[in-house]
Amino acid sequence: MPLNKPMTITFLGTGTSTGVPVVACDCRVCTSDDSRDSRLRTSVMLEVEGTHYVIDCGPDFRYQMIREKVEDIGAILFTHGHRDHIAGLDDVRAFNYVLNKTVDIYASDAVIDSINKEFPYILKEKRFFGAPQLHFHIINHNPFSINGLLFTPIEVEHHKMQVFGFRVGDFSYITDASHISEQEKEKIKGSNVLVINALRK
Ligand SMILES: [Zn+2]
Ligand SMILES: [Zn+2]
Repeated sequence: MPLNKPMTITFLGTGTSTGVPVVACDCRVCTSDDSRDSRLRTSVMLEVEGTHYVIDCGPDFRYQMIREKVEDIGAILFTHGHRDHIAGLDDVRAFNYVLNKTVDIYASDAVIDSINKEFPYILKEKRFFGAPQLHFHIINHNPFSINGLLFTPIEVEHHKMQVFGFRVGDFSYITDASHISEQEKEKIKGSNVLVINALRK
């Protein structure tokens, strides 16, 4: 169903895990002047009624927020726990300091495990002063709402790893998919815009 309010979609990054250009690579793509050959790590931002929802928070998160002049963040959602999707989480601190608020995080149990391995100091028991202040909401296959905005998780596989895409209204966003079951494809049907990874031919 289409949303009954306007949504702005900003591609914060559409690159591979290394980003493009790749450090130290002198191939045709990495040395090209074409703006399509300049891609930060994968992330997308949805803006609805002035609230920003950021999907994934990779190593380029800080620069992506500066580039887009994002002054407030409503929530961060995670597709999966690979490092190129979570590594920027420490930079959420800036929003904590400047806005004096905790940032809401929506992630599966598996992603929270990865975050705890990557950033053990964010864990309550071991946290130290200055660690990012995050409020975790655990997600699974079930649709969930943030400020009344409905997100429908779409489960895809990245080899054996579970990855969640998200559908909001008639917009579906899927990254890092190597397989999608017929059952999950049903959740995409009727989308007006489908964003899906295309790493290889
Ligand atoms: Zn290259
Ligand atoms: Zn991945």
